[in-house]
Amino acid sequence: MPKIYLIDVTNRDGVQTAKLGLSKLEKTMINIYLNEMGVFQSEFGFPTTRHERNYLLANLELAELGVLKPIRLGGWIRAIAEDVETTFERLPKIKHLNLSISTSDQMIAGKFQGKKTRESVIKEMTEAVTLARKRGAESVGANAEDASRTDINFLVEFGLAAKECGANRFRYCDTLGYDNPFTIYEAAVTLAEKIKMPIEIHCHGDLGMAVANSIAGAKGVIDGGQDAYVNTTINGIGERAGNADLIAFILAATKSKNFAGKYEFGGEIDLKCASKISMFASYAFDVPIPINQPGVGANAFAHASGIHADGVLKDPENYELYGYEEIGRGEPISVETGREIITGQYSGISGFSHVMGKIDVSFKNKSRAEANEILELVRYANVESHKPLLEDELLFIARYPQIAKKLLTMTPLDH
Ligand SMILES: [Zn+2]
Repeated sequence: MPKIYLIDVTNRDGVQTAKLGLSKLEKTMINIYLNEMGVFQSEFGFPTTRHERNYLLANLELAELGVLKPIRLGGWIRAIAEDVETTFERLPKIKHLNLSISTSDQMIAGKFQGKKTRESVIKEMTEAVTLARKRGAESVGANAEDASRTDINFLVEFGLAAKECGANRFRYCDTLGYDNPFTIYEAAVTLAEKIKMPIEIHCHGDLGMAVANSIAGAKGVIDGGQDAYVNTTINGIGERAGNADLIAFILAATKSKNFAGKYEFGGEIDLKCASKISMFASYAFDVPIPINQPGVGANAFAHASGIHADGVLKDPENYELYGYEEIGRGEPISVETGREIITGQYSGISGFSHVMGKIDVSFKNKSRAEANEILELVRYANVESHKPLLEDELLFIARYPQIAKKLLTMTPLDH
C-alpha cells in the first residue's frame, strides 16, 4: 500500500509570507524540530538567493554531521536551467530539489505575457530537471504552479515529461487555494494513475480548505496507486491565508473518521513534538497561535459548559478526540516573575554565564576565550532575530559554534 510522506515548506513558503520572516538560526531550529518529529523532508530554502547561501551550506553540514538526519533537505528554485546551474555552483552538495514553473493558461497568458507557451513550459522544465539530475540531484520534484487551474490533460503531459527525464515526484500546487476536497481528489487520482509517479499535494487556505484538501488529495494519490507527499507549514503560516497546517494535517490523517488504518504515514511521526514546534514557530514568526487552533490552541482542550465539563471529567473521550499528552502538552510552562537576566546584542559575559548556568551549560570547563566567542555569536544571533534567544537556540550555539558562525555570516554584494 502506498504511503503518506510530509514535506514541510515553512522555511520556503512560510518565510515568503508578506510581513513575516525568520532568522537563519530560527530556520535551522525549525529543521532540527522537523527532524525530531519525523517529517520526511524540509524545503529548507532558496539556493539561488544569495543571503541564504551560508545558511543552506551550514544546514547541509549539519546533515553530514548526522544532526539533521534522516530528514531530507530540499531546495526550491525555478524550473529553468540557469537556476539549476547557480544552485550547483553555490551548493555542490545539495541532493534534493523542487523545480517550479507555472502551468495554467491564466499564468501563461497573464504572467508570462506571450513569452511562453505550453510547449515551452514543458521544454524549460525538462531541460531543468535533466540538468539537475546530471549535476547530482538525488531527488527532483517537478512543480506545476497553479495546477488547480490547469487543464488536467496538460498536467498529465507535464508530469509524464518530467518523469521521462528523471523527476521523482510531481507537485500539484493549488497555488490559489481554489480546489475543494472533491475536485482535488479527482485530480489526484487521475494524476497518480496516468503519470504513475509519486504526487505531491500543495494546498493553500484561501477558501478555508487547506487541510481538508490535503487529506482529500493524499487519499486520491494513494487510491491512484502512488505515494502521496503532502506539503505543510507550521501553524499554517504561508502566503495570504496560509498553507495546510502541519499539526492539523497529522491529526486529520491519524484521527479522522475512516482515514487512518487505510492511509498511513511512511515513517514514524512523533506527535509529542507538536506543541514545542508550534510554540517555537509562533515565537520566531511573532504570530500568536489562535486559541482555537487544532491540537495546539489554548482552547483545544478547554471545557467550560457544564455538560461538557462533566462529560469530559467522567471520560475524556466523551468530548475529546485525542488527549493533550499526545500533542506534547500538559507540562507547566514557567514564566519568570522576578529578576530576569536576558542575553542580547549588548550582553556581557557575567550575565551570559548566569543565563547559560540556568540551562545547565557551565562555562567552568571552557576557557574564557571560548565563552566569549559563544557570547559573541549569541549577540549576533540577537541582532538578526531582534528577540531574546530561547534555550534550545543558546544550547545549539554552545554546541555548534562553528556552524552558528556560518549561519550568522552574511557578506552583502560579495560576488
Ligand atoms: Zn505555496
